[in-house]
Amino acid sequence: MEKLAILGGPKIIDCDYSEFLKWPIITKQMEERVLEVLKKGAMSGTDLTKEFEKKYAELYGVKYALCHNNGTSAIHSALFGLKIGKGDEVICPSVTYWASCLPVFSLGGTVVFSDIEEESLCIDPADIERHITERTKVIIVVHYSGYPADMDRIMLIAKKYNLKILEDCSHSHWCFYKEKLTGTFGNVSCFSLMTGKTFPIGEGGILLTNDREIYERAIIFGHYERHSEITINYLKENIGVPWGGCKYRMHQLSSAVGIEFIKIFKEIFEEIDTAMNYFCDLLDTLPGIKTHRPCKNSGLTKGGWYYPLAHYKKGELNCLSITRFCEALRAEGVSVYPGCNNPLHMHPVFQNIDIYNDGKPTIIRNSVKDVRIKIGDLPISENIGKKVFSIPRFTKFNKKVIEKYFSAFEKVVKNHKELLRDDPGDPPTIGNWGLTFRI
Ligand SMILES: *Cc1c(COP(=O)(O)O)cnc(C)c1O
Repeated sequence: MEKLAILGGPKIIDCDYSEFLKWPIITKQMEERVLEVLKKGAMSGTDLTKEFEKKYAELYGVKYALCHNNGTSAIHSALFGLKIGKGDEVICPSVTYWASCLPVFSLGGTVVFSDIEEESLCIDPADIERHITERTKVIIVVHYSGYPADMDRIMLIAKKYNLKILEDCSHSHWCFYKEKLTGTFGNVSCFSLMTGKTFPIGEGGILLTNDREIYERAIIFGHYERHSEITINYLKENIGVPWGGCKYRMHQLSSAVGIEFIKIFKEIFEEIDTAMNYFCDLLDTLPGIKTHRPCKNSGLTKGGWYYPLAHYKKGELNCLSITRFCEALRAEGVSVYPGCNNPLHMHPVFQNIDIYNDGKPTIIRNSVKDVRIKIGDLPISENIGKKVFSIPRFTKFNKKVIEKYFSAFEKVVKNHKELLRDDPGDPPTIGNWGLTFRI
């Protein structure tokens, strides 16, 4: 086999394959729809947004959908919908994007972090119960990187302790957990629709719920222009200005793209799923690599495969560092990076920052006891960055191209011993606070 590119050999990926990795996919119809909105000057209207909401709600078989200007604001509204307030505790997996839980602080509540499962990278049901107190109100579930969380066990816990569930589906558009869609389990679910996500409509977010009160509270919170929809008395008496002081309306350039994307996404996702399973089947034949996806026949699916990852089994490659392993792959022309989201409980904002000048850290400003997670308490979350790496996401199925990418992995694995000599090892931490979409 040829010499590794990092050691001066020829690169495997020697031409431009970006069309097979292209994202987002923008069609002529989307362009036309967007132009129509611009020409009409209807960017700040709500007619198209409501049309998109209706279609999205129908798709999910849910009663109410409410668009937001991004996923973060949808989560903020959902938390208000769930009546999170002073002193309330919300349980959230530590490994996720900050927006899954950070809006809790502005409502007066606090966040208690739970560990994740090493396999699925989703919240570990076995670790949730340890964090439940009489102040716990909500469990936030993230279907990380499109891998559906263990909803059977999570729903049982929610029932046992009478807790509400907020599903953050920003990674899991059209992902199924045993024939049921992620986003239809909880009391409310939120989806980011920003461009890097698998349902990319521009900047945007959507909230789904079957609970009229959650829906109306989300409206009163940040959608003053829709207050006429409110029917519940204690809300209706005080409409006109947004209770949250926020304005969360989505602009209609996004809704226009969404209306068109909804018509074609199933076909696109099917192609991605075929391509990625083909790629992962190949990768899983190699020592050192185990792709992050549910078992076949488990009834769990990954939808549009947001931010696909693989587990790195260092022990199978003579303890070659993941940093060096990824560097060697990048030298071959494959864009792979070690790590995933950093564990949030390690960030100063969730330890000691006094965001609102209360004279104490915001995370404990309204708590009776110190809810902060000690470093060392969530071992899986704290060490996962050195054990996973991102893999390319093929949006077009072409066996030859996928096999070529696979041959780069094969080359690095087969020649890994040559990398051991100059392996500087891993830095103390690997990961990032926000995932930027890299291809
Ligand atoms: C992207 C993302 C969000 C926030 O969505 P935005 O549209 O970027 O505001 C929330 N949670 C998770 C897990 C995300 O990946």
